[in-house]
Amino acid sequence: MSTSLFTTPFSRICLSILFVLLLGGITPMQAQDRDVDLTLAGVTQSSVEAHIGFLASDLLRGRDTPSDGLRIAADYIAAHFKRHGVQPILPDGYKQPVRLVNVIPADEGTMKVGDRDFNAPEQFLQVAGADVAIDAKTVFVNYGTEDDFDGARLKGKIAVTRGGVEGSSNVREMFIEGRRKAERAEKAGALVLIELYNSPQTSWTVLQFYLNTPRMALEKGEDKAGFPTFWIEDVGNENLKYLRNHKGKANVETRGAVRENLLSENVVGFVEGTDPELKKEYVVYSAHYDHVGVGAPDAEGDSIYNGTRDNAIGTATVLEAAANIAQNPLRRSALFVLFTGEEKGLLGSEWFVANAPVDLKDIVFNFNSDNAGYNNTEVATVVGLNRTTAGPIITDACKQFGLEAIEDPMPRQNLFDRSDQVNFAKAGIPALMYSLGATSFDEEVMKYYHRPADTPTSVDYEYLFKFTKAYVLAGRRIGDMEERPYWTEGDKYYSAGEELYRP
Ligand SMILES: [Zn+2]
Repeated sequence: MSTSLFTTPFSRICLSILFVLLLGGITPMQAQDRDVDLTLAGVTQSSVEAHIGFLASDLLRGRDTPSDGLRIAADYIAAHFKRHGVQPILPDGYKQPVRLVNVIPADEGTMKVGDRDFNAPEQFLQVAGADVAIDAKTVFVNYGTEDDFDGARLKGKIAVTRGGVEGSSNVREMFIEGRRKAERAEKAGALVLIELYNSPQTSWTVLQFYLNTPRMALEKGEDKAGFPTFWIEDVGNENLKYLRNHKGKANVETRGAVRENLLSENVVGFVEGTDPELKKEYVVYSAHYDHVGVGAPDAEGDSIYNGTRDNAIGTATVLEAAANIAQNPLRRSALFVLFTGEEKGLLGSEWFVANAPVDLKDIVFNFNSDNAGYNNTEVATVVGLNRTTAGPIITDACKQFGLEAIEDPMPRQNLFDRSDQVNFAKAGIPALMYSLGATSFDEEVMKYYHRPADTPTSVDYEYLFKFTKAYVLAGRRIGDMEERPYWTEGDKYYSAGEELYRP
């Protein structure tokens, strides 16, 4: 396939230029830009509408991970790739299996220590492990450090420790250290570990919410429930005083813990670059195609969370870029990746980065397209716009279609680290998040964000069309950049990049 301008039918160029002049109010100089021309020739408003109408239809029931609706969406994406000459790069075609595990914590439990009774989840929570039913003596091992465990006789017993690390009330640290304590307890032959939670940092109610709800994670080859670990509520240190001196037996019983292995898919397409050298470099054009499924009904009784803004439109931008770039390839190679499981905790992208079909150091950029909603149809919100050298290209591409690219207006929301691009950034790969124009999370955005109202009939397609064209144009230009894009100096992920790309 030729990439020369001269193979494009003359009449089509003229027509496109006319379009640009009529619609964009753009100077003839800019209109001669070949990438603008190719974008206009390939991307149509009806194809954007068609993608969204299908992906966000009620039939797909909100594309939960994993679900039949999501599998149908994956087939739709793969069919689109095939139809447009986007190649598979994975051994088995377009789909990359993502192995997940769904962890449902025990929903019932009782604990009896001496004359004290505890119930789950009111007074204690199971942090890890399958259901248990044990009767054993307790042994207090202070903070549960290596030294504390040293010499303690725990075989067949219940290890009891203070929560966390001495001198810290950080809950994150408590989780991390808790896992080490569990390893030590298991090694010492204990049956279970009980930690006394006394951090004022996170309330017990919040902990219940986090720990007592089903959670999905990557299987990561480790398919075990883990060592049974419990946290007892003890902000007043009342239970500590009692348990550290308790010598007798304790009884612990929990019921309802489930661990199920699940399978979902990323969908991955490939277009080889045209430049003999630059084609060894890959730009990843990505979006998550999952949403949150079916949930609580709204006032009208609608319970399908269609996920039009989040993220059928992001998926549509990548599908349009894929068809467009396959038709007229760029100097660099392109990977088009639609992630599963974003809504479950960025799982598809985490899996992809850990199991990428090419060397991570050959991926030079991640152009991720993800959305909450919009409240300004004159802008595109680009989270990370000023963080890489690709920023000016995106600004220009937006301007070409009458949009202003703005940097994240809500830095305190930490949006950059809340979508799939962060998994690339952590690995060092320059990345950003291209989003619909939101200047704040106001009522207009929240009216649709993760709600049944986010339907295909509730969006402004003229705006979405401009938004998609700007993505495709920017994507084309990034793939053709003379110098590969990079983090701006001083960025949080700059050193991760230095580490990854070190020769
Ligand atoms: Zn979402």
